[in-house]
Amino acid sequence: MRLHNTFGGTKDVFEPLEPGLVRMYTCGPTVWNFAHVGNLRAFLFYDLIRRHLRVAGFRVTHVMNLTDIDDRILDQAMHAGTTIEEYIEPYARAFFEDMATLRAQPAEHYPRATEHIPEMVDMISTLIKNENAYIADGDVYFRIASFPAYGALSHLDRAGLKAGARVATDKYEKESVSDFALWKKSQPEDEEIGASWEAPFGRGRPGWHIECSAMSKRYLGETLDIHAGGVDLLFPHHENEIAQSEAANQKPFVRVWLHSEHLFDATGEKMSKSAGGFTTLRDLIGAGHDPLAIRFFLIANAHYRSRLRLSDDALHAAAEQVRRLREFNERVIRTAPAVSDDAGLAQRTAEVRIAYREALDDDLNLPQGVGLVFDHIREANAALDAGRVGPSNKASLLELIDDLDAHLDVIRVEEPGLAEEVERLIAEREEARRARDFDRADRIRDDLRSRGIALEDSRDGVRWRRISPGPVIEAGRS
Ligand code: AMP
Ligand code: ZN
Repeated sequence: MRLHNTFGGTKDVFEPLEPGLVRMYTCGPTVWNFAHVGNLRAFLFYDLIRRHLRVAGFRVTHVMNLTDIDDRILDQAMHAGTTIEEYIEPYARAFFEDMATLRAQPAEHYPRATEHIPEMVDMISTLIKNENAYIADGDVYFRIASFPAYGALSHLDRAGLKAGARVATDKYEKESVSDFALWKKSQPEDEEIGASWEAPFGRGRPGWHIECSAMSKRYLGETLDIHAGGVDLLFPHHENEIAQSEAANQKPFVRVWLHSEHLFDATGEKMSKSAGGFTTLRDLIGAGHDPLAIRFFLIANAHYRSRLRLSDDALHAAAEQVRRLREFNERVIRTAPAVSDDAGLAQRTAEVRIAYREALDDDLNLPQGVGLVFDHIREANAALDAGRVGPSNKASLLELIDDLDAHLDVIRVEEPGLAEEVERLIAEREEARRARDFDRADRIRDDLRSRGIALEDSRDGVRWRRISPGPVIEAGRS
């Protein structure tokens, strides 16, 4: 599998540091408002990486932070007359709801900045001790001059470094305009809204960048296999993360940097919360769009490193593609197989499965993979029309749909109540195993398998996934 590493700008073969296990950190939402569909594009890109890593056989520990303190949150909480904790809660909840609606697989950890202040204070203390940071009038700044590699990710010319927007708003004396804040001295009003913490270098609150360095270290260690985010985070956020982490830990911070392109609105503007006119998932669902068509649009209409433009037409086209995929899936399931297989179809289905996997292995090229499957569906439909689809043709077409849905997850519509029933049966099976009633345990497993559900014993207990039942037991598929 090859991934395009922003650091260096080439597609490189990916191998995690520890064989079999990928440590991945992704920059999550700033929960000062609802996520807009552009943010969701980035989050579903993280989901795509995660899913493909698992298809490729890796275990994944994925961390996605929630930024629950920053200037905008402070302002809003102040205006609303609440604490930052109360202010952000509905938006944090909405974020998790949106992710579930879009079928993003949950990350292993969702750390919040305000719950990791001690880790940040530790890291800042180390940076001060190493003279990579200094205190100026109660604020703490990172000294960019102390970190010669600064700019290596974004290929910035250090001499020409300009003060970024967030830097320009800083009020206090710094040694250099480009030095960025690690810690900001408390203002009297910060106390009232619960945005002020004790630290050896003075009471205050963290700057924005330090949370990702501190929390990735806490959950994943000093060196990450993958760090992902939207392109707008490349500079200064990710550049600052590298400086903080490498200066504090004296270890390489990230092995592969992945950046996804933006979503633009119908008028060609980059979607952005600060600019005002943004669209949320709720808006689109309210306008009648199917969340899974939105999911398809966001991950499969364009490669993650290409820009994507949101429009009603594009969403309708995505819905149509989802409909065709579902219809094909249903048709194959319902087909009573011919006595013998079509050798040509068998060969091409096998080739398409390989080519699909290769497209995903080539820097997660899902749009290309989807295109290959659609081409093949045309041929398979012709074979179905002619009654030429035999038992193993049918099984491999269903496997192809499974391969595709491992990334897309829009084809198989969940039966209501299925998850609860499966969980209940898993618990019953565990109980049977504890009681050493292995016959009953096996019966439960076989029963689920005949309904298209496979159980896997994993480190974190029993998991289940949907499979295509073999041609022998297709009657149970529903
Ligand atoms: P934020 O909530 O602003 O911290 O952003 C969360 C994620 O959304 C980050 O990875 C951003 O890079 C990404 N992002 C912000 N705007 C867009 C956009 N218009 N299109 C795609 N991703 C975006
Ligand atoms: Zn970050």
